[in-house]
Amino acid sequence: MYRKTAEELADFLRECPSVFHTAARIGRELEANGYERLRECDPWSIQPGGRYYTTRNGSSLIAFHLGTELTDYGFQIAASHSDFPTFKIKENAELEVRKQYTQLNTEGYGGMLCATWFDRPLSVAGRLIVKDNDRFTEKLVNLDRDLVVIPSVAIHMNRAANEGTAWNKQVDMLPLFGGGGIGRGELKRLAAQEAGVPESAVYGSDLYLYNRQQLSVWGEQKEFMSAPHLDDLQCAYAALRGFLEGYHEASVHVYACFDNEEVGSGTKQGAGSTFLYDVLRRIHLGLGRTEEDYYRAVSRSFMVSADNAHAVHPNHPEKTDPENCVYLNGGIVIKSHAGQKYTSDGVSIALFRELCEKAGVPVQFFANRSDMQGGSTLGNISSAQVSMNAVDVGLAQLAMHSAYETAGVKDTWYMVRAMAQFFSSHPGRQTIY
Ligand code: ZN
Repeated sequence: MYRKTAEELADFLRECPSVFHTAARIGRELEANGYERLRECDPWSIQPGGRYYTTRNGSSLIAFHLGTELTDYGFQIAASHSDFPTFKIKENAELEVRKQYTQLNTEGYGGMLCATWFDRPLSVAGRLIVKDNDRFTEKLVNLDRDLVVIPSVAIHMNRAANEGTAWNKQVDMLPLFGGGGIGRGELKRLAAQEAGVPESAVYGSDLYLYNRQQLSVWGEQKEFMSAPHLDDLQCAYAALRGFLEGYHEASVHVYACFDNEEVGSGTKQGAGSTFLYDVLRRIHLGLGRTEEDYYRAVSRSFMVSADNAHAVHPNHPEKTDPENCVYLNGGIVIKSHAGQKYTSDGVSIALFRELCEKAGVPVQFFANRSDMQGGSTLGNISSAQVSMNAVDVGLAQLAMHSAYETAGVKDTWYMVRAMAQFFSSHPGRQTIY
């Protein structure tokens, strides 16, 4: 079963070259499963038993499925993120070098491992904002071919290349787009052509580089897989599958996939925004419930924040805690941090651990080395807007924020099972506070 899930993940990743494509891809799957799209600007009419979703900025998405016995309901929420480190293309994209080359002018988005972006076919995807009579619409665009490469400097020209080179994003990381004489606006012209709109109608764009290499399953027993964007689309995909499968009559099941986690979540559509709070409030008010009931519902709620975790590195096992460390194919990672960068605590870990036990899924525990600062994720950021019991989990991976990341071939399936169990249960009701 896990091999089939890995193949399905490969298809999902292929359809998600940009954060906008990811939200659209998830929306399509929701609609195929009977979910109705609600726009934030429209009045919402929701019913117990109903399935709905909404998006913000076309890059963050929240779906919800209402149970039918909502007298004492709680929100059961799975949160992940849709964005990944890449390079954003600047408005004036073309840069000419000695009349012989044209580069694209980019800036970094998120904390990528720069070295992994060299010498591989890349392309461009994102969205165009198109004027259509007196309205603006969004058109997704994917220049679906090998289009640019960021060439390394040869070892003969940089003898220090293997001795800890620092990469300057304005100098070293610009991709080569073509020969000389291409002229300003060529990338936009290509994008407009691809989107089937006149170039003059394109008033805005958000275009990013992406790695063309597809998911590959490898290893002596085919136990590993590598792909772009496993952080965090592996969790986003698995949580979606579990969300579509699980059901509990006293739950409002919520699937949230947020943009901008890689740049701190502090945008209008990020986990630090009011997006989740606004949606939960609208659900509650749409059910005709009281203010008092809202606070009671939140107290019965539970969030699983799912974002990938660092596996022990084969060349550098010393980088992780000696015992609280995780491996590929070892099952769901439960993360905790004394400083509360991760939301997990004794209570939420107990509840989640029981879910995994019921689902027959192994768990492993991650904590940073005590002399090392780890990354953060979305659970604790989202808690500032909507505070509830929450656990931070993830799937073990290597080379996080590389252009090509590595994970275990079994783990996506484990997360699907754990999430399906989560949405079929009501851990928020079991809490002791
Ligand atoms: Zn992540």
